[in-house]
Amino acid sequence: IGANLARTVRRFGDREALVEVASGRRWTYAEFGQAVEEVALGLLAKGVGKGDRVGIWAVNCAEWVLVQYATARIGAIMVNINPAYRIHELSFVLQQAKISVLVASIQHKTSDYRGMVRQVRPDCPLLREVIHIGDPSWDALVAAAAGVDPELLAEREAQLSCDDPINIQYTSGTTGFPKGATLSHHNILNNGYFVGETIHYTERDRVCVPVPFYHCFGMVMANLAATSHGACLVIPAPSFEPVATLSAVERERCTSLYGVPTMFIAELNLPDFATYDLSTLRTGIMAGSPCPVEVMKRVVSEMHMAEVSICYGMTETSPVSTQTRRDDDLERRTGTVGRVLPHIEVKVVDPATGATVPRGTSGELCTRGYSVMLGYWDEPERTAEAIDSARWMHTGDLAVMREDGYVQIVGRIKDMIIRGGENVYPREIEEFLYTHPKIADVQVVGVPDERYGEEILACVILRDEADPLDHEELVRYCSGRLAHFKVPRYLRLMDSFPMTVSGKVRKVELREEGARSLA
Ligand code: ATP
Ligand code: MG
Repeated sequence: IGANLARTVRRFGDREALVEVASGRRWTYAEFGQAVEEVALGLLAKGVGKGDRVGIWAVNCAEWVLVQYATARIGAIMVNINPAYRIHELSFVLQQAKISVLVASIQHKTSDYRGMVRQVRPDCPLLREVIHIGDPSWDALVAAAAGVDPELLAEREAQLSCDDPINIQYTSGTTGFPKGATLSHHNILNNGYFVGETIHYTERDRVCVPVPFYHCFGMVMANLAATSHGACLVIPAPSFEPVATLSAVERERCTSLYGVPTMFIAELNLPDFATYDLSTLRTGIMAGSPCPVEVMKRVVSEMHMAEVSICYGMTETSPVSTQTRRDDDLERRTGTVGRVLPHIEVKVVDPATGATVPRGTSGELCTRGYSVMLGYWDEPERTAEAIDSARWMHTGDLAVMREDGYVQIVGRIKDMIIRGGENVYPREIEEFLYTHPKIADVQVVGVPDERYGEEILACVILRDEADPLDHEELVRYCSGRLAHFKVPRYLRLMDSFPMTVSGKVRKVELREEGARSLA
């Protein structure tokens, strides 16, 4: 990663690398390379060795990106810590990954990071150094660089191998407790590079990143994809805000915009949406969870993102395995998650027998190639459950490989509803319900039922609360259009869904809450 950054700095030194909109700070690639070097030398001055764990617990900011490249240059393992974590989870990660140096935000909205770090420190004796971004400890880190011979950095870099672990990223925790995926330079740099190549990034692109850096969507698909092609990263705000995002696209003339579907929904639903000039956009990435057709149509037509790319992947696979291509038509862009990226293999198997199923048949998606993680950090048993002896990663996702090689994600094995012996895929019902004019957002989950084993619950956020929707009307809308066993038995109106910080709906929670509210 260090060598790749050096190449970008040589080729595109005077082009813009990074813009932090909230503070107005900007770096060219030459300045960015210099700033990374200072942080790398500063960490060496603090005694950070090869393979030592450096935690980063921060909302999006320029320093996050500097630490990402600085740790890669010195061969430290950066551990991405979810900024929504509270002391219980923070303490768990600090101890599980044996973190010796932590770089953290000071404060954001109601999160008092400094206060929380103080509370967990007595339980984490291995944590010897805490640096807060934007306070004197950060300045001291940068100042310490002056006392280190740059030759020391060159010596360290000469000891690194591209297969060394450099990053621990925790999964989103959508289906349970997050797992720490251990990734190498080779894993994530290649993946970022190919994602960027697939959307044709060049040094003229300006990439707006409202998704969190701590997650692979931000750190690989945005940061590494942009910098490996000389494109500029634009940070609209420390955490997602629809107004700040669209303002940043307009002011910074961004060509690419990222988001999970719920972020695009929030932007499109802003009352003054039509007043933003988004005409510089050409592309972007929508990923992380299923992308409703109706939303995609509006992204293409109203946000000018005709080339918007859909990616499918998981933290454990660095993350992207399949991606749509620039020339794909709307059908492929909405009906599939694209086709496999170069140097990666995918297959669809019968989860019971492990045999590859014919094209057009659903089964568990497995992937293999450079992108498969080294393993879960310190959890060999869970690694062995996920990666088989032939190095295939079992994703836990149900998919169909079409005749044309494009992959469709049908749902997660864990989310599938079995109602009266019939397999019901929430995704299909959600797609249908999105077409209802009163429904802004919808999630379908299974809840326990004595008669059918599971029943179907639709959790709905209305477009306009003044215009209510009742179960009877919902059933009327479905009847004749959806097979009877797919029609939701229950309707629950909600103001918002429980989300992971990476922007995914925590269906586990919806299921549990739904079951409780019906009991
Ligand atoms: P955990 O593993 O902790 O339960 P998670 O699987 O949500 O959480 P991530 O690694 O962030 O954690 O997400 C990967 C998952 O996201 C995939 O396994 C898949 O279920 C889902 N996903 C990713 N991209 C898409 C997509 N384009 N369409 C549908 N689902 C997607
Ligand atoms: Mg997962």
